[in-house]
Amino acid sequence: MTIAAQLQTVQTRIRQAEIATHRPANSVKLLAVSKLQDSFKIREAWIAGQQAFGESYLQEAIEKQTTLQDLQQELEWHFIGRIQSNKTKAIAERFAWVHGIYDYHHAKRLNAQRPNMLPALNICIQVNISKESSKNGLAPEAVLPLLEQCLELPHLQLKGLMAIPELTLDPNKQHQAFAQLRHLRDTLATKTYLPLETLSMGMSDDLEAAIAEGATIVRVGTAIFGPRHTGNQ
Ligand SMILES: *Cc1c(COP(=O)(O)O)cnc(C)c1O
Repeated sequence: MTIAAQLQTVQTRIRQAEIATHRPANSVKLLAVSKLQDSFKIREAWIAGQQAFGESYLQEAIEKQTTLQDLQQELEWHFIGRIQSNKTKAIAERFAWVHGIYDYHHAKRLNAQRPNMLPALNICIQVNISKESSKNGLAPEAVLPLLEQCLELPHLQLKGLMAIPELTLDPNKQHQAFAQLRHLRDTLATKTYLPLETLSMGMSDDLEAAIAEGATIVRVGTAIFGPRHTGNQ
């Protein structure tokens, strides 16, 4: 299948999941995860109408942004990878969103390094819902303190929460993890009077469960672009 056809299939899945759970049309945004995929595939997806792309590895992202320079005004780049302190400047300069904030040190640097002529950098705080030691993210009880600290940073716009739950094909477990993130969001929104409207959760294999539990951004890679290159990172 072409990228355009696969993109269409994913959009249909999203739309059907919205309908199944009585959510308004277009309440879920599709982030096309293009990490370890060639830049011509990003161009193909853009031609088919996709604007938001997620990248995990900074150096690779910079190379693709350079190759796709002519689309600079058209594409919206989201950084979804692990943040390293020495790379925050390039992230602050080159992305519209950062999904995986779990460290105040990184937040402070991104805030200081966000260019003044750009709008505030949209951020999500990453929560370690399944409490896997291998996954990054904050324990649920540690989110409120970081959230309050981020509110003091004027060049960051706190949008909500993000999670990468433990991989499972059991739909009950998928729902459970996503519902946990939503409950945490609801609790925090009540405590802080902030909208925290973004729930960045759901990928190729579990986007239906995520949408049923309130996802507003699903991050989908292989279902759009096919298998990724390996061995690069
Ligand atoms: C790679 C990645 C995805 C996409 O995963 P697929 O299974 O290919 O859809 C989503 N979110 C994050 C954070 C990722 O690193």
